[in-house]
Amino acid sequence: MAGNGDLDARDRAAMLSRLAAERFDVLVIGGGITGAGTALDAASRGLRVALVEARDLASGTSSRSSKLIHGGLRYLEQFDFKLVYEALRERDLLVSKLAPHLVKPVSFLYPLYKKVVERPYVGAGLVLYDAMEGTRRPVPHHRHLSARGALKRAPALSPDRLAGAMLYYDAQVDDARHTLTVARTAAAHSAVVGTRVSAVGLLRDADGTRVTGARVRDEESGREIEVTAEVVVICAGVWTDLVHELAGVQAGYKVRMSKGVHVVVPRAAVDADTGMILRTEKSVLFFIPWGEHWIVGTTDTDFSGDPAEPVATEEDIEYILTAANRVLAHPLTRADVIAVYAGLRPLVDPRVGNGSKPTTKLSREHVVDVPVPGLASVAGGKFTTYRLMARDVVDAAVADFGRPVPGSVTDQVPLLGADGLAAVQPAVGRLAEDYGVTRAAVEHLLGRYGTLADEVLNLIRTDAGLARPLAEGHPYLRAEVAYAVTHEDALHVEDVLMRRTRLFIESADAGCGAAGEVSTIMGQLLGWSRRRRAAETRRYLVPVQVERAGRATDSVPAPLRALAG
Ligand SMILES: Cc1cc2nc3c(=O)[nH]c(=O)nc-3n(C[C@H](O)[C@H](O)[C@H](O)COP(=O)(O)OP(=O)(O)OC[C@H]3O[C@@H](n4cnc5c(N)ncnc54)[C@H](O)[C@@H]3O)c2cc1C
Repeated sequence: MAGNGDLDARDRAAMLSRLAAERFDVLVIGGGITGAGTALDAASRGLRVALVEARDLASGTSSRSSKLIHGGLRYLEQFDFKLVYEALRERDLLVSKLAPHLVKPVSFLYPLYKKVVERPYVGAGLVLYDAMEGTRRPVPHHRHLSARGALKRAPALSPDRLAGAMLYYDAQVDDARHTLTVARTAAAHSAVVGTRVSAVGLLRDADGTRVTGARVRDEESGREIEVTAEVVVICAGVWTDLVHELAGVQAGYKVRMSKGVHVVVPRAAVDADTGMILRTEKSVLFFIPWGEHWIVGTTDTDFSGDPAEPVATEEDIEYILTAANRVLAHPLTRADVIAVYAGLRPLVDPRVGNGSKPTTKLSREHVVDVPVPGLASVAGGKFTTYRLMARDVVDAAVADFGRPVPGSVTDQVPLLGADGLAAVQPAVGRLAEDYGVTRAAVEHLLGRYGTLADEVLNLIRTDAGLARPLAEGHPYLRAEVAYAVTHEDALHVEDVLMRRTRLFIESADAGCGAAGEVSTIMGQLLGWSRRRRAAETRRYLVPVQVERAGRATDSVPAPLRALAG
């Protein structure tokens, strides 16, 4: 370990100087889960690593997923046993060892409507699903429920035609927080992590055959610098084709974008004490418990617009509500929907690249390519399997280093906040007393920061005002905003409201009511003038307003209507 993994937004100048001055073994382009995982994989092999992310960590697909760490029950139907097996192993490793503070078991009820046909079919699938796990099971086995048993767990279900249910277990995660924690763990192993730093071109050696680094732009100042590295690894998700073009290379695959939308409804709108999964005509629909809410989704439609701004349409929302209402006794209405978000799946199509096969086609789910010396790329896969994607692309990237590079060790590297968790969990009461906060506040912090929760609590010790809630009715503390700046590289209000906290999807006003407060706390640390604070608040409010207004004018939150005059 070389650092403590702090990503202090106030150290931006030093970060940029390091990018310009040092020679790296590996330069990773993209700070979603794949890029963060790749930086950690390479750094924990002892390599010198830099990561550049054009916007904020996890601002692409990695904050907009269903937030499940799962084998994917439906892939069994497609006989993709290898994928399910690998994903279940990853799920169990994350829950039990690598990130128990972030990845938590969750149960799903699968209602059955054709008892004779469905129960043996789904039951056999779940026996297989459970059997694919390792021997040390961190989540319980599946169970059969009668129709009465199902209604007891989920009174929200309509009893019509309900023949029974299966109950099985998977895991869930705050995807943006997990990505950030992986990036911080990479930084703790010496990786330099630069956000709002875009790769704008690739560097080549004198005869133009080998990639030797990238030209990057600091998006805060517009200044460009050159970052040199023995190999550049592209982990740009749905931007992969664009980055390949920028590099002037033709990779052995292309990435297709598929849009997935989720709606968020209050917990009280659906009476159930377990998650649910329903079969739909096209795929499946999840009800995922999320604090005081349910996340319900998703859709699956081709997308060809700007990857930075996938927008949910009224049609997407209608599709989800209609599918959900097929099984609910009391239908969900548009008025129940407090938030909507859309993400883009980076689906790999190996047939439409340069005609040649990718160098390594590792599974149906992710593809690694080395299109020219000094450049590797990885795309596809799922959040759940990021560690394997990272391992595979780093193996391919270092293959021609001409010196031995150790194999991946990330299955033995717990993420920051995981080590020692078992000893902190029983101390909740003592911590609450010591820091003068509620037990609920300590539990909330442990579930987000693990053993690093004391770093957030220490901020409260120096400024008691930071113990106050950030927004009424939500568990986030003002200290978390300060911590986001000093330890989690938050540079703008949206970073805090959309990804360090999840108020954007958890609050009926999309976090707009807290934007001014967030700007004030951030501004004190980042030296913003009054004018700059106001501008930073507007920078959050205006796009949120435009997006919401684009869908339905009556859903524009009050603070925004005021702003719009
Ligand atoms: C609706 C939906 C639901 C999903 N649900 C699940 C689920 O429940 N479980 C699961 O396992 N998986 C799920 N997935 C899949 C999973 O979310 C994705 O596979 C994963 O997040 C992709 O991560 P990534 O790092 O490859 O891409 P991204 O997160 O998009 O990261 C790519 C990054 O590259 C950056 N970038 C682009 N160009 C440049 C440049 N020139 N310079 C620097 N940076 C650049 C972008 O800003 C972006 O942050 C879901 C996906 C969707 C869309």
